[in-house]
Amino acid sequence: MVEVAIYAITPRNSRGRACREAPPVGRSEFQRDRDRIIHSTAFRRLEYKTQVFVNHEGDLFRTRLTHSLEVAQIARSVARNLRLNEDLVEAISLAHDLGHTPFGHAGQDALHDCMKAHGGFEHNLQSLRVVDLLEQRYAAFDGLNLCFETREGILKHCALKNARLLGDVGARFIKRQRPSLEAQLANVADEIAYNNHDVDDGLRSGLLTVEQLGSIGIFSRHMKEVRQEHPRIDARRLVHETVRRMIGTLVIDLTRQSEKNIKAHPLRSIDDVRAAPALIAFSPAIQREQQELKKFLSLNLYRHHQVARMTNKARRVVHDLFQAFFREPQLMPPQYHAAATADTARTVADYIAGMTDRYAIREYRRLFAVDEI
Ligand code: MG
Repeated sequence: MVEVAIYAITPRNSRGRACREAPPVGRSEFQRDRDRIIHSTAFRRLEYKTQVFVNHEGDLFRTRLTHSLEVAQIARSVARNLRLNEDLVEAISLAHDLGHTPFGHAGQDALHDCMKAHGGFEHNLQSLRVVDLLEQRYAAFDGLNLCFETREGILKHCALKNARLLGDVGARFIKRQRPSLEAQLANVADEIAYNNHDVDDGLRSGLLTVEQLGSIGIFSRHMKEVRQEHPRIDARRLVHETVRRMIGTLVIDLTRQSEKNIKAHPLRSIDDVRAAPALIAFSPAIQREQQELKKFLSLNLYRHHQVARMTNKARRVVHDLFQAFFREPQLMPPQYHAAATADTARTVADYIAGMTDRYAIREYRRLFAVDEI
């Protein structure tokens, strides 16, 4: 393994785990975190949860599982170049979406709506709740007992009122400090991954066209380059080659600009990283292009009428499931009954958030279709 930089997180400068454990044998603390995440139930469920498209719409679209793997791949490449802790970056990337509801943002919005009077629902907080509490597979503790830095990286954003309830991982939001560079990196890698795969999935689904994307700087620049080098390239390869080059450009730009930012700040410790502004960032020109692409996707893909029709259905499924379980917690599987007595709304939210797209649809049918058992 490459020697990490002085500003990287290591098992030596880590704040450790809430529940003390013997040091791992043959792997680092952060490799252990990654391994626990991969073996969790919530991680396996990512395979059947979606970002933009519903899981049954097509086998080639990204799911949250393949998305998380792409985030980890991008983040690890940059981490190695910046001499950051690759294992930590990988652990955060693989865990960052564990708390997502079924049906992507539509599901999250619907669940938040149902939970308004009960403290709300936020997928970042839920991801933390999964690794801190909801996974129940170890004899000595609830959750996965991950290192502080992995948990801190999972909690990307958080409202101040929630931060106050979260103890150690919430403190930085109150002090207005930054998380580790590894956490910052996983966050930007997430953005690189979804912007690019949404272009790819958007084109494959036919909801976006190459002509439309021709007006977007970063796409048209790279597409032109591919066409010049390969004038007879077919349509599918043109898209792949363009997206591939876009990711390459973003990764290189992110590496160079972050290197520059790190050099401009004398970082001697993790505390210096926390006190500095966000250092893992694109150059201003690329940042502008990313904003342009994001805006385009939001207008043309996330609000496309076909996506909106699906979103509408998803909202209804989540909403109706919540109401039914909230009124009658006994309708949930028995393992939820004890927790539901203590806090009905939060337990129902945990149950629904844990569902995959297809499980939620099946559960909806089982509850509301009279001819289903
Ligand atoms: Mg993500």
